[in-house]
Amino acid sequence: MLNFAGFGLLYWSTHGADQVAIDRQGRLFARVISDTRNLIAHDQESVTVWDDTVNAVRKRDLEWLDWNLGVWMEDYFHHDGSFVVAPDDRLVYAYVPENIANAVFYGTIQEPAASLVAELRDKMRNIEAFEPDANLDTPGAADVRIIMGRPAIVSAKPIISDTGDIEEVPGQQYTHLAVRFLDDGFLSEIEQKYQFDGIRFSRIDDSSALEKVLGLHDEGGDTIGYFIWTPYLPGSTVFAYLLPLLIVIGVVLVAIVAGYLILLRRHNQSRLQAEASMLHLAKHDPLTGLPNRSHFNDSVDDILVEHQSKGHGIALLFVDLDHFKQINDTMGHPAGDALICNIADRLRNLVGNNGIVARVGGDEFTVLLTNVDELGAAEIFCDAIFDACRKPLRFGGRHINIRLSIGVAFCRDGKIDRNELIRRADVALYRAKSIGRNRYVGFDENMDAAQREKRNIEADLRRALHQQGQDQLKLLFQPIYRLSDDRIRGVEALMRWQHPEHGNIPPDTFIPIAEEAGLIRELGAWVLRAACEAGMHWPDIVVAVNVSVLEFDDPDYVGRVSQVLQDTGMAPEQLEIEVTETVMANSPQCQLSLKELKALGIKVAIDDFGTGFSSLGRLRQLDVDLIKIDRSFVDGLDQSGYDREMVRAIIDFAHVAGLEATAEGVETAGQLSYLRQLGCDHVQGYYFSRPVGAAMVDDLMGLKQMQVNGVV
Ligand code: C2E
Ligand code: CA
Ligand code: CA
Repeated sequence: MLNFAGFGLLYWSTHGADQVAIDRQGRLFARVISDTRNLIAHDQESVTVWDDTVNAVRKRDLEWLDWNLGVWMEDYFHHDGSFVVAPDDRLVYAYVPENIANAVFYGTIQEPAASLVAELRDKMRNIEAFEPDANLDTPGAADVRIIMGRPAIVSAKPIISDTGDIEEVPGQQYTHLAVRFLDDGFLSEIEQKYQFDGIRFSRIDDSSALEKVLGLHDEGGDTIGYFIWTPYLPGSTVFAYLLPLLIVIGVVLVAIVAGYLILLRRHNQSRLQAEASMLHLAKHDPLTGLPNRSHFNDSVDDILVEHQSKGHGIALLFVDLDHFKQINDTMGHPAGDALICNIADRLRNLVGNNGIVARVGGDEFTVLLTNVDELGAAEIFCDAIFDACRKPLRFGGRHINIRLSIGVAFCRDGKIDRNELIRRADVALYRAKSIGRNRYVGFDENMDAAQREKRNIEADLRRALHQQGQDQLKLLFQPIYRLSDDRIRGVEALMRWQHPEHGNIPPDTFIPIAEEAGLIRELGAWVLRAACEAGMHWPDIVVAVNVSVLEFDDPDYVGRVSQVLQDTGMAPEQLEIEVTETVMANSPQCQLSLKELKALGIKVAIDDFGTGFSSLGRLRQLDVDLIKIDRSFVDGLDQSGYDREMVRAIIDFAHVAGLEATAEGVETAGQLSYLRQLGCDHVQGYYFSRPVGAAMVDDLMGLKQMQVNGVV
């Protein structure tokens, strides 16, 4: 573009320069013609104003005249003809170029000569009116004429005395006529002198488009011919000179612009790619490549609109990995990531083109199944998921069992909106988790009632805790016996809630609700204080208190414990904190709390051992005092060799690690006998005593010895 503009500007300016030059040459040529006329007159005066000439013409001294007017004027001034006309109009002398016949020449100038001579004589008669100038001393008459077909200046001058010594009658003098052709020699002279290229004379205008024409006019104003030449065009010369440069610049510019455009295009392409990948990133989970929550939500909205009133059904599945945090914490993040990717692949393969799979949280997936006729079909799909996940994932030489909980919501005709669909799937998932995980549950309307019920329980628990319900909450204590001497080693404090309407609500139900509602810290603080207050009555035995991991993960937890010990006066050694294996997770805060408790002298037991994901190696690193073998293993002691071996392994491991082992949930004499054989340190269970009130503990303490099936 720039180049075209530059080219246009150059052309415009050079063209303008050419026009100026052409005009100037035209003016110059006209000037040369007029100067030539003056020059001829001036040349003539060198001989016409001279006594010798007057005498020579009067005497008809032709030899003298030939020499001074003829040869001299031709040689010196390049005049082509020289004539002298007497006052009686007779031609007294003629000098013409060698190749032209005298008579012919004069014949052709006779007519112009006559009028010029007459004009001159008039001027001579009125000599007073003549004003001599620096160039000319005498009047003259001249014209431009065609002489013998050629343009010529014919100039008339009077032959007069220069001294005034010769008497003359004004108007009666001899007249000298000089002829100078304006072609041939004249034109080649000015061609050289003024650069009028190829200048020529023509009677008609036969110029070409590239030539300049100047008309030649006689004194009467008639055009008698044309001078034609190729004008000097400085602009075009410059233009022609600059053109290659301009072309080079143009090519370079075009190359630069093309290069720039290519770069721009590449840049645009990479920008578009970056935008596309950013858009992809914004809509997808980077780990699995699955759509993320917002992308999934958009898709659900679209599909719901599509399905409106078409009789199509869709199912929304909330898939939640059970115990993912433990896997992540105990086996490391790479294992967690591998598990997530593996599940993503399995789900993607199962769903295929029949829906969408998305990852909407750390261990949460959603699946939207399209064209599902009824909830039952979605449940068949859930079975397929469980089938697909039955095979454990191998990672780092270890097996990871995949356990999922799934909530399913179904909708036909796009009748419910996305939020409601998600809510229903969420409620169903919650139910699946709360009834034991590793299963799927389809939403039904009753669940909303259950959900409401849960919220009511939450509110009631809050009230109970804030003493509005007075003694709804209380602690029972279950004795723990030492097998070495069959005496009470301690008691485990277990919470009870007597709801005014629903009766006894088990801790397995309300503790998760308290955790979810953020009430667990308060509830735990209440338990700890009540347990320590009670424990002050039994200074010889340990009081075990169950602590939720959520409490334990709190930086202020240990501070609160030591405050309670201070307030109640209980010795730290008397207190035992029971935490589940999840506490062994990598949370630095949990480990810090553990360390600080130990530093205070408080004992720590790992509860429900064997149900979580802790590795024995990891357990060794943690500074705990005791392992409580989960009831499920003790349960099978009578029947299952596997359980026996498991319990043996746990007890052996505990001892190797310098820990004590307590078996919980001992219900039979057989179990007790096995536990004795296996070297278990402590036992606890209905076989000895159910959890009982504090008063009953006093009684049990009085009995000291283990009483089988003693007190309820
Ligand atoms: P846990 O810590 O494993 O407590 C032992 C549970 O097993 C108690 O149930 C107890 O009554 C029961 N149990 C004891 N012996 C036997 C037996 O021989 N057979 C059977 N079938 N069960 C036996 P409970 O009191 O219903 O407590 C359930 C769970 O609730 C506890 O399990 C504990 O995890 C939690 N929990 C109870 N009280 C508290 C508390 O104050 N704070 C916290 N954070 N959790 C508590
Ligand atoms: Ca416990
Ligand atoms: Ca337990």
